[in-house]
Amino acid sequence: MQWNNVLATRSSRMKASEIRELLKLLDQPDIISFAGGIPDPALFPAEAFRDAFSQALTGDKAGAALQYSVSEGYKPLREWIAAEMAKIGVPCGAENILITSGSQQALDYLGKLMISPNDTVLVGWPTYLGALGAFNAYEPTYDRLDPATNRPAADFAAKAEAAGGRVKFAYLSVDFANPTGETVARSAREAVIDLADEMDIAIVEDAAYQSLRYDGEAIPPILALEIARKGSIEDCRTLYCGSFSKSLAPGLRVGWVCAAQDVIGRLVLMKQAADLHSATTNQIVTHTVAAAQFDAHVAKLRSVYMARRDHLLAALAREMPEGVSWTHPEGGMFVWLTLPAGMDGAELLAQSLKTERVAFVPGRAFFADGSNGNTLRLSFSCADEAAIDEGMKRLGRLIRSLQ
Ligand code: PMP
Repeated sequence: MQWNNVLATRSSRMKASEIRELLKLLDQPDIISFAGGIPDPALFPAEAFRDAFSQALTGDKAGAALQYSVSEGYKPLREWIAAEMAKIGVPCGAENILITSGSQQALDYLGKLMISPNDTVLVGWPTYLGALGAFNAYEPTYDRLDPATNRPAADFAAKAEAAGGRVKFAYLSVDFANPTGETVARSAREAVIDLADEMDIAIVEDAAYQSLRYDGEAIPPILALEIARKGSIEDCRTLYCGSFSKSLAPGLRVGWVCAAQDVIGRLVLMKQAADLHSATTNQIVTHTVAAAQFDAHVAKLRSVYMARRDHLLAALAREMPEGVSWTHPEGGMFVWLTLPAGMDGAELLAQSLKTERVAFVPGRAFFADGSNGNTLRLSFSCADEAAIDEGMKRLGRLIRSLQ
């Protein structure tokens, strides 16, 4: 079978990344890995979930837990999320929430809903690789969104028109972004709303790491800032994508979109067409565990991850040679390194796996145009202190030897 003859044009944009091949080596026991970008499984509230599953599947509750359910999602969970959103400045109701199978599914639906081939999506440089992957299937082009530089709306519009479409939305990972760990400043969030209002485009606010702040002051979500200007979520253009993956457990695949009912209704149709609804039992147990201990659990995560971040930053300061710089995230799971100009993150990884047995994610894939090869992402979420010390010693040594 010549599969190429039967593929849709969109599939040509769905490529396995070359780094995935290298990262397959990570299973080997002697590798010190900063590549993962996943929560530490030792911190999952496993016992609480076991009890919640047992409760949900006992007696006459079991029928509903194992049955089909509504596409919008389990109502008590949507109500709980709406109450949490109100606490961060987004007054809304369950009717403004759609439960998705992780926030990754929300990114896919938003691409499906808004992008026609050759339309433009505004993204950060770098940006979350999984967002590029989700949007790529709908054949967009990308333009660089950098709220600090204040590019005029007409400039974005002209470039989009030249590419054969129009700008549809701006995508931003707002708090402790993947991959940089950086947070979008309040003034930049306001500037994005100004730009979106002027261009009449949507804003996709990816808040996957929102609850993992270790220090500094919380900044209101873009959706909250927009509601403060316009009075009601129903008049807003921002779609907030939340997730329980980093705060409770990613394996359950429970995320949500919070937005105006008009667009939530359209996304419900996407959900119906794609998978009818997210797993009923998983939504029920997520509600049970979140309602009982969300704040306490997240407080525990924060203290553990914060100590790992501090340890990594101290090790970088000690071990990295002149010419290497890195971000100082206020939360999340990532530190982003910029290597001396001319050094390549992917080549460094290949060398590092061979001689130093230290793994990380090279930065190039996070750039929509494949630029900035002299970067890499380090994740501190799963690394213990001894591994951080030894890993940074080896990585610093390797970079120094290549300078
Ligand atoms: N957005 C960002 C910025 C992420 O880093 C991730 C996961 N790594 C996701 C969305 C998707 O997460 P999930 O589908 O598990 O909610």
